[in-house]
Order: sequence, then C-alpha cells, then structure tokens
Amino acid sequence: MYDVLISGGGPAGMTAAIYAARAGLSTLMLTGPAQGGQVAYTNVVENYPGFSSVYGFDLAQKLAQHVDSAGVKAVAESAESLELSGPVKTVRSNQTTYSAKAVILAQGTERRKLNVPGETEFAGRGVSYCATCDGNFFRNKTVAVIGGGNTAVGDAIELSALCKKVFVVNRGEKLRAMEYLVDRAKEHDNIEFVFRHVTEEIRGSSQVEHLVLKQRESGTEKILDVDGVFVAIGVLPNTGLLEGILPLKDGFAEAPETCETSIPGVFAAGDLRRKALYQIVTAVADGANAAHSALLYLQNHPAAK
Ligand SMILES: Cc1cc2nc3c(=O)[nH]c(=O)nc-3n(C[C@H](O)[C@H](O)[C@H](O)COP(=O)(O)OP(=O)(O)OC[C@H]3O[C@@H](n4cnc5c(N)ncnc54)[C@H](O)[C@@H]3O)c2cc1C
Repeated sequence: MYDVLISGGGPAGMTAAIYAARAGLSTLMLTGPAQGGQVAYTNVVENYPGFSSVYGFDLAQKLAQHVDSAGVKAVAESAESLELSGPVKTVRSNQTTYSAKAVILAQGTERRKLNVPGETEFAGRGVSYCATCDGNFFRNKTVAVIGGGNTAVGDAIELSALCKKVFVVNRGEKLRAMEYLVDRAKEHDNIEFVFRHVTEEIRGSSQVEHLVLKQRESGTEKILDVDGVFVAIGVLPNTGLLEGILPLKDGFAEAPETCETSIPGVFAAGDLRRKALYQIVTAVADGANAAHSALLYLQNHPAAK
C-alpha cells in the first residue's frame, strides 16, 4: 500500500509527486497516456517563471527528471476505476489494482471536439488536435485552425512557419486570445482570419480536402480548400471516471486552494480542478498544495496512517 497515489503525470501530478516524496511519503504516480501532460505538446512556453522561453517538451522532461530523482515510482498506466470512500483507496488500471491511503487526482484535460460530420472519419488523416505534434505533416500545405483563443492563435502562428497558408476560423467577430498573440499572428501574411463562421462539415476522399463553413447571420455556405484542420476550441476535463464519485461542475472537480475534495483523503489538482486560470504555474501550485494537504491528512488520520 502506498501513502499517496497520484493519477496524472502532467505538471500538477509531477509536482505533487515531488512534494509528496520529499515529505517522506511512499508515492506512486500513474502517468496516463502522456507523461508531461499538455506541456509536452506545447511548442514554446514564455510565461513560466524562471524561463523566459522554453520548449514545452524540454520543460516536461525537466519535470520528469525531477520526479525521478525524488524517488517517485512512475508507471505508464491509466486509472480506469476508483474506490475512494474508505480509509484505503483503490485505483485500478488496465493492468494492476493499487491501494493507497490518499489519492491526488491530476488527470488534466483533453481537447474539445467539434462534433461535425467528417471529424472522426478524418482524425489522423488531416484532422488534428495538436499543432506541435502534427504541424510538420502539413509543410507547404494549406490548413485551417478552428477557434479564437490562445491555443488557436498560438497554433496558427506555429503553423504559419510551416504551411503555405493558415486560415483561422472563429465563430465570433473578435479573437479571445491575449493581445500579444493576436498582434504576433497579424504580422504573418500567410494567416487569414475568417470571422463569424461556424464549422459545418469536414470533407475529403482519403484525406481532408474541404472545410465547409456557414456564415452565422446569413447562413451562406463557404468552402475552404484545405489539407488539414486543427481543432482548438477548448478543453474538457478528464473527469469521466469521477462521475457519481465526486461532485463535478461543468465536468470540473470542485476543491478549494487546499485541493481537498468532499471525500477525506482525496485531492484534486491542476486543470481538472475548477478555477480561474488554467496554466502550468497554477497546475504546479495545485500539485504542491495537494501534496501538502495529503501529508496533513495522513498526520491527522492515524487510522489511515
Ligand atoms: C496547446 C497548449 C499550449 C499551452 N501553453 C501554455 C503556456 O504557454 N503556458 C502555460 O502556463 N500553460 C499553457 N498551457 C496550459 C498548460 O499546459 C496546462 O494548464 C497544464 O498542463 C495543466 O497541467 P495538469 O497537470 O493539470 O494537466 P495535463 O497537463 O493535462 O496533464 C494531465 C495528465 O494526466 C494524465 N491522465 C489523463 N487521464 C488519466 C487517467 N485516466 N489516469 C492517469 N493519468 C491520466 C495524462 O497522461 C497527463 O499526464 C497550454 C495548453 C495547451 C493545450
């Protein structure tokens, strides 16, 4: 039995693991499908204190090395079912059943889908959710990025260095991305913004060929000839396995800054916790708070200890 089991290997989970291990707790981390989390798929991070500019992949590697040197056991498995109510918590992966006295949930988020015809059919054949991962496949081609937030505009800038042409398709008439990103995007002649259009369908034969849009007011159809479609319309928390176990709001776990949930000995950290700002710096802060709260819980619950 472990003192603490951490479900998630992103910045929140890795920070929780470092703090828990350094506090002398035996610690297991399930990294899930992607150790490093979203950071590993981020091109350049420019707002993490101490690093004026760092490749997301490099930052994720540094965190993973820190976790390793702290003596944490990390396994590349995903939590599939949880029993969290009693003093002994059970977490099942597809391979193993683990027991722990405290559990830190840090499964982060995944990209929201468009849910339009063609999206699933062409996933991996022109439809992508990660510009950093797949941009290289679209060198000198024409692509569209769907969305208007930081991720969409950041993706468009990244793709503009590789692609012949990048359309940014936005439902509204204004981008929601930070001003500096918008200004940077506007400096690229091969980025074209298409405002007030919604995506209706993705069409093609063996690969994506066309993006079908509808003008929001007039309903007029517009077809863009594209080789790729990058979907960047937000994220959904990875909390499916918590339904019926923990109270969720809009899919996010409810917990204060201490990361304590309504179940004693269970803590929610990082992007799956409902909060105001979803960033690496707040995810690592959550990880530290969650590990600290887990330590206090174990000290104050001798039965669990
Ligand atoms: C394209 C993009 C660019 C970004 N750029 C920046 C930036 O410049 N600066 C910034 O501060 N933030 C940025 N962010 C946000 C930042 O990446 C997140 O806020 C941060 O990664 C959240 O960390 P997390 O650990 O909570 O979750 P995540 O990073 O989402 O990690 C979740 C972890 O949980 C694991 N997991 C999932 N399901 C399970 C399961 N069932 N069992 C076990 N493990 C599971 C995953 O494998 C992963 O390891 C960006 C995000 C994106 C998508």
